[in-house]
Order: sequence, then structure tokens, then C-alpha cells
Amino acid sequence: MISDNIAHINARIKVAAQTSGRNAHDVRLIAVSKRKPLAALQEALNGGQKDFGENYLQEAVAKIAAISGPAIFHFIGPLQSNKAKLAVSHFDYIHTVDRLKIAKSLAKHATDMGKTQKVLIQVNVGREGQKSGVLPEDTEELLNRMQEYPALEICGFMTMPPFAQEPEANRRYFSELRELGQGFQQQGLLAAQSPLELSMGMSGDYEVAIEEGATMIRVGTAIFGVRDEQG
Ligand SMILES: *Cc1c(COP(=O)(O)O)cnc(C)c1O
Repeated sequence: MISDNIAHINARIKVAAQTSGRNAHDVRLIAVSKRKPLAALQEALNGGQKDFGENYLQEAVAKIAAISGPAIFHFIGPLQSNKAKLAVSHFDYIHTVDRLKIAKSLAKHATDMGKTQKVLIQVNVGREGQKSGVLPEDTEELLNRMQEYPALEICGFMTMPPFAQEPEANRRYFSELRELGQGFQQQGLLAAQSPLELSMGMSGDYEVAIEEGATMIRVGTAIFGVRDEQG
């Protein structure tokens, strides 16, 4: 059933990419497996799913240690500096860098481990007071200051728009993130070796996100079913 859901989503990714003149290979499906058991991840991985997103470090670390096969892990939850070491040692990508303090601790641990850590900057394009993410107008300064951390490979941007019933309501936030990202890329503030990554779109709105340029979509419920608790 998990594999059926993934196949269904991949088919819809293809259509959304085609309608917007993009190549479906440029859209990476991240299966968000937070609060789901290892067996669910293993089933998805065995069916060919490669990328997984997790929000809670302790929970994720246990699954990462136990899963068998070449999975790629993305950290998409809120991050504290005292957990930076654990994040760097377990995750291929960290999507939620939104302040200098976090960037600095990630860079320190990546340097200690001799790793180049791929990161994305989380931008609060919806300007919601309670939400994580750097405000659009503060993003340039954060990027400028992060240039002094060569251990961090800045791949692009991530956003979580305000909750909306209608996926179309989020289109403007997705296009704002794309425009912001393209501008910073032109200014040379991103890692030169990577294409611009845009991590945006979830179960309810990933097609709109793809139409607006998403290169990574983070889909949980539509793959694994509803979670016991929201998180
Ligand atoms: C939980 C979560 C998702 C997945 O949400 P669904 O609606 O279940 O697809 C995506 N991104 C982040 C940051 C999340 O926390």
C-alpha cells in the first residue's frame, strides 16, 4: 500500500512537471516518515523510495541506525544548537537553518567530522509570528554571514507556507521563495557546485509547488497515512 501511494504520487509529479514544462527527474520526492515505525520506512525503501524526511532527532537517529539499504535522510524539523552534532552525524541534508547560531554550530561539527554538510535556509515567506524561518528581508544578511563557513554547502531554500485549505492559496508563497532563491543564486551566495534547491510542497499542495519550481517536495500523509499526533 505504501508503494502504491508512492507510485501514485510519482505519476502526479510527472504530470505536474510536464504541465509546467519541467523534467520530473528534477523533482525529488522526500517521504516524510516522522512518527512512523521503521517497518514503514523499510517498506518504502524496499519499493525504491530513496529520500526520507524526519523531524525529531532522537526518533530519527534510531531509525537511521536500524534501516538497511542506501537511504538519504533529510532533517526537516526545528533545530537547536545543542543537537547540531547529532544532526550533522546522521543527515545528508538539513533543511531548517534559519539563524546564524545554528549555522555556526553545524559548521563547527561538520568541520570536526571532516564533512561538508548540505543545508537549506528555511524562509518564513508567510511571515507568521510563531513559525520558524528567517524573514525574507533578513535572508541576505544570514547568507552573507554564512559565507565564512565553508563546511556548509548552501544548496537552497525551504519553506512551510501558512496552513490553507486550498492549495492554490500557497502558490504566491512558492513563487516568492523561487524568486528569492534565484536572486541570491545570481548574487553568488549559494554553493556554486549545486543547482538551486527549493524544498516546498507537502501532501496537500505539492503539485502547485512543482509548478512553481520545487526541486524537493516533502510528503508524509499521502504516503504513510495520517499520523497519530500532528507534529
Ligand atoms: C510533517 C511535515 C511535512 C509533511 O506533511 P504532510 O502534510 O503529512 O505531507 C512536510 N514538511 C515538514 C516540515 C513537516 O513537518
